[in-house]
Formats: sequence, C-alpha cells, structure tokens
Amino acid sequence: MILHNERFTERDDAFVDIEDRGYQFGDGVYEFIRVYDGICFEMDSHMQRLKLSALKIELPLPYALEKITRNLTRLVEKNGLMNGFIYVQITRGVSQRMHHFPGNTTSVLVAYTQLGERPLEKTTHGIQAILTEDIRWKRCDIKSLNLLANVLAKQQAKKHGCDEAIMHRGSTVSEGSSTNVYIVERNVIYTHPINNLILNGITRIGVLQMARENGLRVVEEAFTVNELLEADEVFVTSTAIEICPVIRIDQTLIGTGQPGLVTRALQQAFEHRIVFNSGT
Ligand code: PLP
Repeated sequence: MILHNERFTERDDAFVDIEDRGYQFGDGVYEFIRVYDGICFEMDSHMQRLKLSALKIELPLPYALEKITRNLTRLVEKNGLMNGFIYVQITRGVSQRMHHFPGNTTSVLVAYTQLGERPLEKTTHGIQAILTEDIRWKRCDIKSLNLLANVLAKQQAKKHGCDEAIMHRGSTVSEGSSTNVYIVERNVIYTHPINNLILNGITRIGVLQMARENGLRVVEEAFTVNELLEADEVFVTSTAIEICPVIRIDQTLIGTGQPGLVTRALQQAFEHRIVFNSGT
C-alpha cells in the first residue's frame, strides 16, 4: 500500500497529475526514513526537518505533523515492513504551469515503503569515493526534490566504480552527494558546520552526539580537500549508509586503507542506538 494524502491505497490506484509542481518544478520537500525491526528510526527528527524544509520554501504542510507521523507509522504496519525505508514527499500541488506560487493549490503528500537490508558489506569494509565540484545551489539545507546535481555527482561516482562523490566548493569540502562527510585527525572529528551549504543530516546529529558522549572531540569546521586526502580516517553518514568508512578517494588511500578505530567506535555506539530504538 502507499499513502496518498490521507488515503491508504494500492500503488496502481494512485497517479501523479502532469501539472503537479513537484513533477514540473521540483517544488516540494521530502524525507527518507529508516525502519529497523518494524520501528521507524529517529522519526521525530525526520518530522521536524520535514516541517523546517517546508517552512523554508513557504510550503503549507497538508496535515499536522502528528497526523503525518501517525499515518507513516500505519503505512509501515500495513505493509508489514520490518527492515527498509519510508519515502515521503510533499509538493505544492497541482495548478496550471506558472513559476510563482499559484496561491490556490493544496499540498500533495505521497509516501511509500521500500524493503532494504542494512549495508553491512559497505560499513564493514568501507567504500571508495571520488571528488567532484559542488555545483548545487546555496540552499542545500533544504531537503528539496531538486536533486539533479546530486544525481549527476553520484552517477560520476558510479562510472568510476565508486559508491560516493564527495563534493567541494573550491578547496572546501561540503558533503557527499547523499551523505555528510567527516575526517578524523589525531582522534579529533571534523565536519562541515550546519549552514546553507549542507543538509543537516539526521544521522549526523546522532553521530556527533554519540561522539561527544564517548569523550571524542568534535570540531564543526570546514576542512579542505588536502586535509581530507591526508586525514587519518574519513567516513560518511546517512540514513541509508549509516556510518561508513571511506578507504580510498580517487587514487589516494586514506590512512592505512582500512576502516579506522574512531569510525569503528562510532559504529559500535550506533549499534546501541538502533537496539535502543527497537526497545529490545
Ligand atoms: N547530505 C545529503 C546531500 C543527503 O542527500 C543526505 C541524505 O539523503 C545526507 C546528507 C544525510 O542525511 P540523513 O543522515 O538525514 O540521511
């Protein structure tokens, strides 16, 4: 089943209007939420970010956040989803095509679930990444439907047999095409500060909290491409990839070319967070 506004329906019974503004302009916002053992992970944080993204583009939420949360949880139950994801998007709705807000539309919500196991192979052994210029706009803090620059970056990574494209504006590293990026230098974790140039990752929030709880020093300061390549450890985080070591970037081996100790410690703490989430 999928969720279309407030209605649970079969996927084949739902349709996208050709003049939906999400479809035509990318005029909407979304969230991608992990489900572990049938329970939504960090649901409240995702809902708060959804609300904030909507606010930033002056998009009225079609329902109260509590109602959206309830319906997404029901969707997971109805589909009997144990391990996977919820994708939810809200667009500015349907109107005759015009660039400015039409003013009389009703926001459209669509959500569905997707099966997905944990990325254990990648988190255990690490991934390889490429470097690419960050060509996105200057509101990367909004989780909007406009992902073309991210799509192109990820495709470039795939073409090179890599899993992620780490983006930089000039010499400053911003984030991955679908991840936040961190370096570890003498046991200190560095990551780009929260501003308009990166997404405030939900996994990032948890990782920085866990790091501080475990006595690790965290510095939310941008670092350069050179610092990235010379770091002791590099890792990326997201809802999908969790905490994943990066062992090679372009032709450069990171550290020893093996997942590092700080990354491993954070991964362990993350396991506890997941277990705590499921209440077992
Ligand atoms: N940065 C970008 C550009 C992303 O697309 C994502 C996730 O999709 C992230 C960071 C990580 O965010 P989260 O941890 O909320 O999944």
